[in-house]
Amino acid sequence: MFDVIIAGCGPTGSMLAAELRLHDVRVLVLEKETEPVSFVRIVGLHIRSLELMAMRGLLDRIRRHGRQRPAAGFFAAIPKPVPKGLDSAYAYLLGIPQPVIERLLEEHAIELGAQVRRGCAVAGFEQDDEGVTVELANGEQLRSRYLVGCDGGRSTVRKRLGVGFPGEPSRNDTLMGEMEVGVPQEEIAAKMTELGETHRPFWLRPFGRGIYSVVVPAAGVSDRAEPPTLEDFQQQLRTVAGTDFGVHSPRWLSRFGDATRLAERYRVGRVLLAGDAAHIHPPIGGQGLNLGVQDAFNLGWKLAAQIRGWAPETLLDTYQAERHPVAEDVLDNTRAQTELLSSEPGPQAVRRLLTELMDFDEVNRHLIEKITAIGIRYDFGQGPDLLGRRLRDLDVKQGHLYDLLHRGRGLLLDRTERLTVGGWSDRVDYLADPTAALDVPSVLLRPDGHVAWIGEDQQDLDDHLSRWFGKPAH
Ligand SMILES: Cc1cc2nc3c(=O)[nH]c(=O)nc-3n(C[C@H](O)[C@H](O)[C@H](O)COP(=O)(O)OP(=O)(O)OC[C@H]3O[C@@H](n4cnc5c(N)ncnc54)[C@H](O)[C@@H]3O)c2cc1C
Repeated sequence: MFDVIIAGCGPTGSMLAAELRLHDVRVLVLEKETEPVSFVRIVGLHIRSLELMAMRGLLDRIRRHGRQRPAAGFFAAIPKPVPKGLDSAYAYLLGIPQPVIERLLEEHAIELGAQVRRGCAVAGFEQDDEGVTVELANGEQLRSRYLVGCDGGRSTVRKRLGVGFPGEPSRNDTLMGEMEVGVPQEEIAAKMTELGETHRPFWLRPFGRGIYSVVVPAAGVSDRAEPPTLEDFQQQLRTVAGTDFGVHSPRWLSRFGDATRLAERYRVGRVLLAGDAAHIHPPIGGQGLNLGVQDAFNLGWKLAAQIRGWAPETLLDTYQAERHPVAEDVLDNTRAQTELLSSEPGPQAVRRLLTELMDFDEVNRHLIEKITAIGIRYDFGQGPDLLGRRLRDLDVKQGHLYDLLHRGRGLLLDRTERLTVGGWSDRVDYLADPTAALDVPSVLLRPDGHVAWIGEDQQDLDDHLSRWFGKPAH
């Protein structure tokens, strides 16, 4: 009997497994593929995800494998400088191959004690009052207290749960792959300059060792149900650019669409959904992996609290209450960005107007904060603007604030030096630091780094400790 079975060992599943293991939850991750994926698409880790990695002591390990880029220019690919005053110690984009980030997160989960079984597809499940019986494709049955579907956009768990997945089907497919080219770099650069602005999505980008990343619209080629071929790429390149650049020797070829859908519910009883299983949208802005990892970060400590028995009654339901609106907002911004990439005159005019507006730093910053997820404010009720937002990393007397969050516990940062976490000390750490660079007396941080309380009154603090961390142990 496991506490939690996770379907899917993608970035969301691994992150969730690691978060649960921080609280000694018995976790089994079931992954249908026998080997990790080999599609080397580069994804961007945005600021909030980098902050999460710093909060769990993973950032240095991850950063070694990626390239830092400016935190700018990713809203509808409108080129603008980094906005002033981005309030983060990690205000950059980290470009990193998706298989690498997946491997690092899986290793992290295993190091913390999660079990991962590959070649095991979840085929169905039954839930009752005590737990969930999970059925594998080979007929084997496993039992756990909770099941979380992190099994991607075509999620079996979501389908078997009967949760609706409303939204728009894919309208435009795009071919993406890596291959060698048969023409000089200058010829490619000249074509990109000529066509790159008007024929989106279209690019050939050098990827090192003579290999190019190629993206071209898929309109009209072959059957969607079939994997794309090199001939599909050649044909589409000729249609768009008038030449196929002599592409040959593909490393991998894929196709993705722009379907946009959001699960109606993230939880039914003992079964939950996270990551692409709960939401899909076009890759513009590079948000999907980030959103999934952040779902896992929100859910992990709450589900652990439920299993350890100290969760306040409504805590687990705050997962959907907080994360569903965030996904709604991401879906909306990708819809807007998709329109802005259209070559029709109307959207092009809106794009020109927005390009002008983004010269106002506040507009540029608002959009970058949206994409990088540092603008999120959960609804924790009335209070100062910081309440419900994440707290940036700060210098504190022991070093960096985020270094004190590695164990996934709550933290009281007390500038008054008069407060105490009392009977919650088994779940919440305490740091007295009158010199911390905060303009409020004290803050209570949840394990995900969001500000759950601000103030200086012990009774008020105790009420909020109860709200988020349940009854005191003594
Ligand atoms: C071209 C492209 C570019 C992108 N660029 C970015 C980017 O720059 N930044 C970004 O944040 N996102 C990007 N994304 C999106 C990102 O790749 C996904 O959002 C991310 O992979 C979702 O992670 P996940 O763990 O939720 O799901 P997945 O990565 O889909 O993982 C699900 C896992 O579940 C397994 N599985 C499926 N069914 C079962 C089953 N029945 N039983 C057991 N296991 C199962 C699968 O094999 C898989 O390993 C991009 C996507 C595309 C297509």
